[in-house]
Amino acid sequence: MSTPTITGPSPSIWVAADAIDRARPRSRQRQLGASDTACERRAAYKFHGWEPTDHVISPASVLGTYTHEGLTTAARKEFGWLVEKKVADATVRGSIDIVQLDRVTARQLPRRLRPRVPADENTVEDIKTRTVYRWDETIRYGATAPELRQVMTYARLLNSGGFADVDGQRVLARLGPIRVERIRLRYICRDNGEEFVQEIPYDPDIAEEAVWWLQRVTETEHPEQARRDFLGPGIDAACDYCPFATACWGAPANGRPVQANLVHDNEDVAKHLADYVAAHRQWSEADKLKRFVRKSVDGTDAGRYGANRLDWSEEEKKEQRPDLRAMIEIFDTLGAPIPTVPDEDRMVKALVTAGLAVPMRTVVKRPSRRIGVSAVRE
Ligand code: SF4
Repeated sequence: MSTPTITGPSPSIWVAADAIDRARPRSRQRQLGASDTACERRAAYKFHGWEPTDHVISPASVLGTYTHEGLTTAARKEFGWLVEKKVADATVRGSIDIVQLDRVTARQLPRRLRPRVPADENTVEDIKTRTVYRWDETIRYGATAPELRQVMTYARLLNSGGFADVDGQRVLARLGPIRVERIRLRYICRDNGEEFVQEIPYDPDIAEEAVWWLQRVTETEHPEQARRDFLGPGIDAACDYCPFATACWGAPANGRPVQANLVHDNEDVAKHLADYVAAHRQWSEADKLKRFVRKSVDGTDAGRYGANRLDWSEEEKKEQRPDLRAMIEIFDTLGAPIPTVPDEDRMVKALVTAGLAVPMRTVVKRPSRRIGVSAVRE
């Protein structure tokens, strides 16, 4: 049996994953997509055809892509749902994760394209992955504003023009406009696979708001006229992995964070300080209220209360203290006088002066209880 040859340290597998991800057609597209409706400035760079200035490998987003591919393939094979279908109009394009047709619409298609279980109303589904850190917020608040704009845009495009007439879906395009009545957002936790499904009716107002949002981007003459919707690298993850981060914020100067590039004169400082004071006021009011609640429920057992779950966790605190008994033994061995009433501070000082190590012991302090409040799923 031949022995594999190791020619050097193993490269990170993310380098390969990233290369594949960058080669995908969507990574090269410049036309605005429904998923570009999160940051106005970023959409503007894309719309004006700027070349990306940054490239950061995002394992989280690559994992999200893999999860998407695996789950949509499974849904297509097992449920017969339509997956990764293209929609577009003159301004925006999109690729819908899943469309589950109702019985009446599905009957107009060849049998191979009909869902095994039709929906009771035509449904557009978008799959999102989340880390466990954002899971509580996901269950509590559901879809974010950009996520709603994205999925409502898909539904609007299907409602108005149907599936795009492109290779691989010509039969679907012949159906014409599809009346979509339901939106489904399926959240998958990347850390433990937990699943949370939010279903809501199609909302033409949000779809209209998304049209207006995109229109504002297309009306700019330069990306800098578009608003930054995030607070920059080191604060918002969207900026940490943004391909236009340097174009947007500039390079760090004198080792300072890039946000410092926005401050040019005293007027800028004054404006930022006013923001700081306003934010601090809100934070301090909120913090007072949290401390009030913490004290109010001090005698309450852990458990479910309305829409929330109360948990208590205890944190043991350990610290190193001089070990008096061991110090007495050292003093005894050295024949040094031991204070009749042992004086810890004096003994420590004497050992340090004599160049001897101060014996230490670990003291466990009474644990303090920490409150935890998390969302409860219905
Ligand atoms: S760096 Fe942040 S604010 Fe700037 S374009 Fe990118 S996402 Fe938007």
